[in-house]
Amino acid sequence: PAPVLTIDGPSGSGKGTISRLVTGRLGWHYLDSGALYRAVGVAAGWKDIDLGDPAALVRCAFDTRVDFREAEDGLRVMVNGSDATHELRMETAGAAASAIAAIGEVREVLKERQRAFRRPPGLVADGRDMGTVIFPDAAYKVFLTASADERAQRRYKQLKDKGVSVTFAGLLREILARDARDANRAVAPLRPAADAVTIDTTGMAIDDVVDRVLAVMAP
Ligand code: C5P
Repeated sequence: PAPVLTIDGPSGSGKGTISRLVTGRLGWHYLDSGALYRAVGVAAGWKDIDLGDPAALVRCAFDTRVDFREAEDGLRVMVNGSDATHELRMETAGAAASAIAAIGEVREVLKERQRAFRRPPGLVADGRDMGTVIFPDAAYKVFLTASADERAQRRYKQLKDKGVSVTFAGLLREILARDARDANRAVAPLRPAADAVTIDTTGMAIDDVVDRVLAVMAP
């Protein structure tokens, strides 16, 4: 099977940015697994499905089609045929995703879809459980962390650059709540794989993190 590099970590740890840059450097495929959970959250919102109704959410996960398209301004994500790229980035989508991601059956539905991204010449898989559950046999595993304050700062800047109005304090609170839920859930809790290399990116420049990740692959 094609080689896999897993990049797991909490929200705002730099996973998205680093994964995309590393993917470009390697010329591999890229899986944004968080986008799959976010897409189910957004689709559930469109259908007025209650986040407290697990059976309906499992059905929604099964029915939601997600396609990634390469565009001039980056990757676009189509949910059931509609461009949901912008909506997916909102913290409401992240919070819905985190609630839905705690349902074991939803994770089962998405498991094979994620594994299908593994194709030659290789795959960079970005998420929470890439190294522990989805690709436990991956040759290269990285776990990115950063202080909560820095992670909230990064998300704040990202959203502000996109013209979204948020407060730093509110965002910090939401991120801490989401991370606590992701780390404490019964199924696939957020934690580094035993064989992952942990990189604390607090205060590190993006290029230096990219170099560290590539160094993990070619020690
Ligand atoms: O990475 P991102 O912020 O887009 O993920 C949104 C949410 O989806 C996370 O907070 C987490 O609850 C869930 N998720 C997950 N497993 C993954 C990727 C994301 O549980 N592999």
